Amino acid sequence: MAALATTPVRARVLGIPVNVSNDVFRDAVALHGAGGGQIVTLNAEMTMAARADPALGAAIEAARMVIPDGAGVVWALGRQSHRVRRSPGIELARHLLEHAAAVGWRVALVGASPAVMDQLRERLAHDLPNLQLVFSVHGYQPPKAWPGLESQLLQARPDLVLVALGVPRQETWIQALPQPRTGLWMGVGGSFDVWAGVKNRAPRWMGALQIEWLYRLIKEPSRWRRMLSLPAFAWAVLQERR
Ligand code: UDP
Repeated sequence: MAALATTPVRARVLGIPVNVSNDVFRDAVALHGAGGGQIVTLNAEMTMAARADPALGAAIEAARMVIPDGAGVVWALGRQSHRVRRSPGIELARHLLEHAAAVGWRVALVGASPAVMDQLRERLAHDLPNLQLVFSVHGYQPPKAWPGLESQLLQARPDLVLVALGVPRQETWIQALPQPRTGLWMGVGGSFDVWAGVKNRAPRWMGALQIEWLYRLIKEPSRWRRMLSLPAFAWAVLQERR
């Protein structure tokens, strides 16, 4: 039955696939048991990016799990009568790390700045002393270093790989790695910066009001151009025929 558990209903938002699930942790553990695969955390910005970027679109299409990480995607699913709650990728990733420490999964971390990666290793050693961290590298390697690092990573046979290289690179990088690969492979954006204590998540009340995007815009005004995709997303969803 493991295969069934890993193939929940797949809907589409503006043509981009997303799993209709309210228990993404259970689905991810089942996916690990069924041989693993890529997990994508979809929000409105990424949906619009995927429509314009065939490589990102193909990576999402090929992913075994696409979780609704974003109020916009949850809203768009609601218009199709799919009731799901928002599943922030950073929360699923943390839950999977804790599970990994509890059950002995081999974990790999890729990405973020050298200082953030150092800080993160220290924090994880303190917070999750049983975590088997079998591979960890920062994300600012010279291009010639990547092929060797990728082979080392695959040889480490990880059960869980969290990749913080930013969208779309983390998704396309994971997808381009050679098969066969086991384990869960997930792009986590700025999660390492948050876990290392370098960045904060939006306060809870902003999450409840579904305006986390506003917090990011205030903290990182350079994101404004990327964020123009949010009204474009809303408009496109409103225009979409059921
Ligand atoms: N990053 C990296 N290498 C790069 C570019 C970015 O490791 O060449 C890291 C960056 O340090 C940060 C993460 O990728 O930790 C991207 O975070 P962001 O919040 O921008 O993620 P996004 O919004 O793209 O998901």
